[in-house]
Amino acid sequence: MNIAYFNGNFLPKDEIKISPDDRGFLFADGIYEVMKWTSGFFYDLESHIIRMKRSLKEISINWPEEDTFSGFAHKLIELNGLSDKQALIYLQVTRGAAPRTHYFPGPEVTPTVYAFVREFIPSGILPGTGIRVMVKEDIRWSRCDIKSVALLPNTLSFQEAHQKGLGECIFFRNGLITEGSHSNIFFVVDGTLFTYPESGYILSGVTRKNILRIARQAGIPVKEEPISVNDLATVQEAFITNTSAEVTPVTALGSHTVGNGTAGAVTMLIHKIFHSEIAAQRG
Ligand code: PMP
Repeated sequence: MNIAYFNGNFLPKDEIKISPDDRGFLFADGIYEVMKWTSGFFYDLESHIIRMKRSLKEISINWPEEDTFSGFAHKLIELNGLSDKQALIYLQVTRGAAPRTHYFPGPEVTPTVYAFVREFIPSGILPGTGIRVMVKEDIRWSRCDIKSVALLPNTLSFQEAHQKGLGECIFFRNGLITEGSHSNIFFVVDGTLFTYPESGYILSGVTRKNILRIARQAGIPVKEEPISVNDLATVQEAFITNTSAEVTPVTALGSHTVGNGTAGAVTMLIHKIFHSEIAAQRG
C-alpha cells in the first residue's frame, strides 16, 4: 500500500481528497520539491529544504510547519518499506483552497501539503553511453528559479523530445543555452566546465551546485557562463544533472555529435566522484 502525507496525516494515497477549489488545481499556484533517498539518507537534504523555503517565500505562501518536512519525509520512507532502497520523495505545497479569484485569498487560507514516495528504478542508461537531446527556444517564463508546479512548457517540450526518442529537451534563450526541461546542463570546452549562471532563466539545481563543488575540488576549471547555441559544434563533452538521474552524459545535441559520441573523460571523472561521495556517506 502506498502511504502518502497529506496536511499533517499519513494515509493511503487513494483516500486523499483535495478540494476542486484548491489553487494548485485552478492556477498551478504552488511549489514542489524532489529529493532522492539513497538507501539510508536523503542526498543533500539541507539544500533541498533551503530551496523549498525560498520557493515558498518567492510566491508568498506561508506554511508555518515548513520545518516538519524532513521529519515526515523520513517517516514516509519508513512507512513504505523503502529504508534500504533508492527512492524519490515528491512534495507539493499549494496556497490552499478558496473561491476562485486572481488575487490571493484574504484572510490567508491554510496551504495544502501533499507528499508521496516511490521506489527509484535506475533508467539503465550506462554512464559510458548517455543520451541524445533536442535543442529549442525556451518557451517558459522568466522566474524559472522558482520550483513552481506550473510545468506545462516543460512537459510540452519534454514530450516533443520523448516522441522523437530523445532523452531531454534543452532550451536556449537569446541564443544562449540555459538548461533542460527537467535538468541543468554542463559543457566541457578545452578542459573548462561551463554552465549557465544562476538567474531567473534556470532552476538552481541541487545537483548542479554539488557538481560545481566537486569540479572545483578536483581542480577542473569552472565557468558559470553560457554557451551559445552557435558554438554547440565546438563542445567536446556535455552532461545533464538532476536529483533522480544525477549525472547523465549527452552524446548528441540536436544535429551535433558531442565529442566522439560517448561520455568524455571529465564527465566520467565527475560521475565517479559524485558516486564515491554517496558511497562514503552511506558508510
Ligand atoms: N532544472 C529544471 C527545470 C528542473 O526541473 C530540475 C529538476 N527538478 C533541475 C534543473 C535540476 O534540479 P535538481 O538537481 O535540484 O534536481
